[in-house]
Amino acid sequence: MSATDTLTHVPLGGPTLPQERRLVTSIPGPRSQELIARKAAAVAAGVGHTAAVHTVAAGGGVIVDADGNSLIDLGSGIAVTSIGNAHPKVVAVVQEQVAQFTHTCFMVAPYESYVDVAEALNRITPGDHEKKSALFNSGAEAVENAIKVARKFTKKQAVVAFDHGYHGRTNLTMGLTAKSMPYKSGFGPFASEIYRAPMSYPYRDGLSGEAAAKNAISIIEKQVGADNLAAIIIEPIQGEGGFIVPAAGFLAALVEWARANNVVFIADEIQTGFARTGAMFASEIFGIVPDLITTAKGIAGGLPLAAVTGRSEIMDASHAGGLGGTYGGNPIACAAAIAAIDVFENDGVIERARDIGSILISRLSDMQSRDARIGDIRGHGAMIAAEFVDPNTGDPDAALTAAVAKACIAEGVIVLTCGTYGNVIRFLPPLSIPDGLLNEGLDVVAAALAAA
Ligand SMILES: *Cc1c(COP(=O)(O)O)cnc(C)c1O
Repeated sequence: MSATDTLTHVPLGGPTLPQERRLVTSIPGPRSQELIARKAAAVAAGVGHTAAVHTVAAGGGVIVDADGNSLIDLGSGIAVTSIGNAHPKVVAVVQEQVAQFTHTCFMVAPYESYVDVAEALNRITPGDHEKKSALFNSGAEAVENAIKVARKFTKKQAVVAFDHGYHGRTNLTMGLTAKSMPYKSGFGPFASEIYRAPMSYPYRDGLSGEAAAKNAISIIEKQVGADNLAAIIIEPIQGEGGFIVPAAGFLAALVEWARANNVVFIADEIQTGFARTGAMFASEIFGIVPDLITTAKGIAGGLPLAAVTGRSEIMDASHAGGLGGTYGGNPIACAAAIAAIDVFENDGVIERARDIGSILISRLSDMQSRDARIGDIRGHGAMIAAEFVDPNTGDPDAALTAAVAKACIAEGVIVLTCGTYGNVIRFLPPLSIPDGLLNEGLDVVAAALAAA
């Protein structure tokens, strides 16, 4: 890699780490192995990890470990560090805020940054109707609160979620999540009044958006009934479920049906939000305006923050004191979110996500043209996945997927898998990754696939 490539192709800032893949030990190296051993002894076994590394720094498109290895990051900590790790604008406002005050509890003594974040979310989320927001700590908590306000507003109880959907790990959100292993198995009983409808999955169901929506709506009407249904919750592009992009028209038909039946339509944009898909929100790609939208992950440059934003009349349905939490909208996280949203809006991040998407699609298509085990390539912007199958039967090939991901990590490229069938590799690079590094990461993926 040339010196100019190192210096000039990081449009979004970040610490001045050399933008290179550098392996000085095998992965994991001795210091990483030490930490992983301590983790095994001290941390609950249920908390897993993708890469056995001891992280000491991250920025641009790399994660540096304690052994001096520099790994290419194609996961962004699960779509969180979209503007790059430790973005300088985020670092500056966090440092300033942490020295002013760290907490008052917004419900005890309010502060301006929370209101600033709410105003920004009301402005940038889809639709020009009157909106309000409430802030929380995690995506799951945002989803729980979206369901709370939808029930309060409609005075109905049932909620419909979709096949392959993922909404979190708390009790209600486990119930909304489709996949049993690892998210739900043994952790029941789950909350009642949750129903599941079929998702549009063009690669596997072969249905048009209209046909898939007709099918889903028929099931909802027959098995739940609009009179009982408070909300439909759906990811516009499913994340953990396999980056499933619904067929054109599917989401719009569901929105139309929900609106006609006094059912709140909730778009869970926790993974798709904030420029990730090449639009500020994925709902825009499908031309839909959700009643409520849940956000988290990319919102605050790595600090924990989440939100529900939506129609004022729905958001205001709760009595005072009905929504909140001790830490929700913490001032340090709010300061970070204001800085991050400024970067999303003004620093060319959406365009960068589209450019990264073009590189990903063209490189993966090239691999697919030579390898029938890549059954499908899909996604939008910098949220792209490849689904691996047995070329003879079309059956999901989870073993191949796991082998490729493992080989990539051993070669210093962090990739994440996903999918109901465990047969999808998803690419969620930080939008601060230089082109050269992204291409090098994809070279490693191609070599791992060829060798598998
Ligand atoms: C990650 C995620 C959640 C849960 O967010 P947490 O912050 O992990 O609680 C919910 N919905 C979607 C679509 C997600 O990707």
